[in-house]
Amino acid sequence: MPSLPPLPDVDDTGAVLAWVGTHLGHLTLEGPDGVRPGGHRGGQAAADTALATLDVTGYARSRSTVLPEQRRGATRMSPYVRHGLVSLPEVWAAVAGAAPGDRRRYRDELLWQEFARHLYARTADGLAEPLRYQPPHPSGPVGPAPWDDDMACTTWLREQLEDEGWLVNQTRMWWASHWTVRHGRDWRAGEDDFFRHLLDGSRAANRLGWQWTVGTGTGKPYGFSRWQVEKRAPQLCRSCALRDACPVQGWPDAERGPSTGGAPRPGGPATGPGAGPADPVLEGEPAAVWLTAESLGDADPALAAHPDLPVVFVYDEPLLRSLRLSGKRLVFLTECLADLAERREVDVRLGRVPEELAGTPVATTFAPVPGFVRRSASVDVAALHPWPWMARPEAQRLTSYSAWRKGVPLQA
Ligand SMILES: Cc1cc2nc3c(=O)[nH]c(=O)nc-3n(C[C@H](O)[C@H](O)[C@H](O)COP(=O)(O)OP(=O)(O)OC[C@H]3O[C@@H](n4cnc5c(N)ncnc54)[C@H](O)[C@@H]3O)c2cc1C
Repeated sequence: MPSLPPLPDVDDTGAVLAWVGTHLGHLTLEGPDGVRPGGHRGGQAAADTALATLDVTGYARSRSTVLPEQRRGATRMSPYVRHGLVSLPEVWAAVAGAAPGDRRRYRDELLWQEFARHLYARTADGLAEPLRYQPPHPSGPVGPAPWDDDMACTTWLREQLEDEGWLVNQTRMWWASHWTVRHGRDWRAGEDDFFRHLLDGSRAANRLGWQWTVGTGTGKPYGFSRWQVEKRAPQLCRSCALRDACPVQGWPDAERGPSTGGAPRPGGPATGPGAGPADPVLEGEPAAVWLTAESLGDADPALAAHPDLPVVFVYDEPLLRSLRLSGKRLVFLTECLADLAERREVDVRLGRVPEELAGTPVATTFAPVPGFVRRSASVDVAALHPWPWMARPEAQRLTSYSAWRKGVPLQA
């Protein structure tokens, strides 16, 4: 297929929406006329601003605060981390001067992100299967709807997810628990629904987050009830039409499911893409840098190593058709590419990756996700650059976060 028309000006949101609606709108959840931006602007310039203004003062105390917004400790860095506009080592270094308690807590969360990436690199699509226990089964009937329109908390949360494409960690847990632990709905369908909307949606962190919340990873399902809303976002309860008849007044009545049996999957044989090369593997003369959605920043190792080569990015049409992502995710990605196009020649395509890249030897950065391994197998990779791990996967145990953490020699 020919290249898509030139990218719009990243600062002209109307032009970005029109570009996405025209060229990618038919692949989105909302359709061409429903493409809207989410709550984060994409691109290196926006990510640099977020990093330069990162302040974790009070983070340890207020990480889980939901409302009011100005009291939240959450730093909203996740879409930039997810798409490689800032690396975990950069964020780690950026909080070196913070108060010890806040620094430790924040760096611990960065390590959770790294742990999710290690797990996914090892288990690949196995992360979509319960890691250690079957999901819990509530004693009552499976709920017909994932949320009750009269409940202020879940209605507000849903609006945030659909409009902003971003949620505080605490409310992700509320939703996942409400969906599966209380209502007995399939956690994988809930995970897919999050993935379609979240600007930071990644299979690694999203699947781990769901598994952790519903108890398939730990054997301890997290219970969501009114108590958390009163504590973290009391105004939602105050404004709720059901405040005197709260459907989540008590804890959900659900026991953990039975063990999946056998060795825990993360300790089993490696089936995923692994760590990738530790040093660049050069096998030819690249004619372009192939960027993927895993790594869209200026510091992408392949991009940085080949400053004079043009860049090519492929919107993977069959994948997008099957995922039906919300348009706001594609707006974010397009802003990233449009921002890069201010500094580099960027050729954007829509189609099947091997066909779009046929005949072009490329330099690219290894991405520790199964989709990269599948696609790159049919691409002429002349230079493969290493993934910027915070702690390179080696012999760490992946059976739990704490077991894994012991094998990571980083001082938070
Ligand atoms: C059900 C569920 C689904 C989730 N889905 C995703 C997802 O698709 N993508 C994603 O990046 N995170 C996911 N998370 C983890 C976490 O909720 C988000 O990373 C965090 O809310 C992002 O907001 P922030 O940048 O303000 O985080 P902060 O609290 O400011 O933390 C800083 C950074 O640390 C990392 N981080 C923080 N908490 C976690 C965590 N629990 N697990 C992994 N990394 C963490 C993120 O990179 C984050 O940007 C999920 C959690 C749950 C419970």
